[in-house]
Amino acid sequence: MNKKGIFNRRNFIKTSAIGIAGLGIPGKGSLLYGETEETTSSFPKIKKLNTLGRTGFKASDIGLGTSRAFDVPILNALLDAGINYIDTAESYGRGSSERNIGKAIEGRDRKSLFITTKLHLKEDSTAEEIEKKFNKCRDRLKTEYIDCLMIHGASSIGVIKNKGFHTAVKKLKSEGKLRFTGVSNHGARFGRSEDVMEEVLMGAVNDGRFDILLIVYNFLKTDPGEKIMAAAKKKNIAITIMKSNPIGRYYDMKERIEKLKEDGKEVDQRTLNYFNRLQETADRSETFIKKHNLQNSDEIRDAALQFVMNNPNVNVLNLAFRSFDDIEKMLSLSGSNLTRNKQKQLEKYAEGAADLYCRHACGICEQSCPENIPVNTILRYNHYFETNGSEKYAMEKYANLSGAKADVCNNCPGHCEATCPYNLPVKGLLQLADRNLCLV
Ligand code: SF4
Ligand code: SF4
Repeated sequence: MNKKGIFNRRNFIKTSAIGIAGLGIPGKGSLLYGETEETTSSFPKIKKLNTLGRTGFKASDIGLGTSRAFDVPILNALLDAGINYIDTAESYGRGSSERNIGKAIEGRDRKSLFITTKLHLKEDSTAEEIEKKFNKCRDRLKTEYIDCLMIHGASSIGVIKNKGFHTAVKKLKSEGKLRFTGVSNHGARFGRSEDVMEEVLMGAVNDGRFDILLIVYNFLKTDPGEKIMAAAKKKNIAITIMKSNPIGRYYDMKERIEKLKEDGKEVDQRTLNYFNRLQETADRSETFIKKHNLQNSDEIRDAALQFVMNNPNVNVLNLAFRSFDDIEKMLSLSGSNLTRNKQKQLEKYAEGAADLYCRHACGICEQSCPENIPVNTILRYNHYFETNGSEKYAMEKYANLSGAKADVCNNCPGHCEATCPYNLPVKGLLQLADRNLCLV
């Protein structure tokens, strides 16, 4: 059977129940679906396991990030391929991410899997509230215990010190319902009212009670990730990674700028100057993209992911798999190395297109915005829209964002641009983001 024949939805549903050879990770058994070894041998498999810090668990180098609720057959296929680290959250898909994982892990050897879920907390969340929410996660996941409970997007040092959280954790651990704790952070949602990623995560490391961190790290955004990793290593705290692919969809940016102009909004000279600057940057990026044949950006994306996985302080790289095609392409990166040639390609990309990427967990320019626009958060949502293909999710997030949105940028001289250390044409990027993300 050729690969094309295998990677269709119907066959995938059948093959997703097959166990993985070599790593001792059991599937649900071929009897259930009646597949053959010949079929399963065509799937990429996890090739490397890393010790997950002080937890001691041997985790697959690629983990499953589930910010969207993936179909159960996709989850089954990934687990059968050897992924044994699952990252989810109460809020992902409003609980359906956890529910689908619960279905996929049913009947599997629970001890062979490491499941992390997350809860959004406030500084004054009580132990009772946390315990109640945690038990709902456990119900949705259909599991007696959860391996790690993370504070989701911890917004301040106060949140990680929350007494209610630590009281609830102590109780849940004593009841055998929870094993470890962690913290995630991808930057302040509202720069002026929250602590920055570095402060929160270094605070979690120094606190000493957390076992796993989920942090932003990619080849265009190495700080403060590397500093946090070095500090975490000294305490044997495990590092898991998100936002590992900063490659943007720049190849059709010129077209999108034109569409924005055609929207009928009044475009004054000052605004036109911004678009010209944005277009200049887009032209430069387009030249790079054509020269390196990156219309299909798989190659550069793979190099970006390998950059992360090759850092010895990274334990698990969480990836989202949107399709069966993604599984075939991205799982084959397990255990692979970034070659010198690919490293050079990343360096060239950084020269050619990096000044259109708003660094995750940055937020520096937000202090200069008179309208208090959460620039970094809006451009992150736009990244979900453009790069991750999560259009609906990104639009919902934008719609739910409180306060002023990027439509106010149309009437602003763009104070934020002068303070961006990466020289991004911020105003134009925000206008494009607003056009993408608006529901109307
Ligand atoms: S363009 Fe103006 S309103 Fe928009 S983020 Fe920048 S400073 Fe704020
Ligand atoms: S636009 Fe620049 S300064 Fe503002 S958040 Fe993005 S990278 Fe940071």
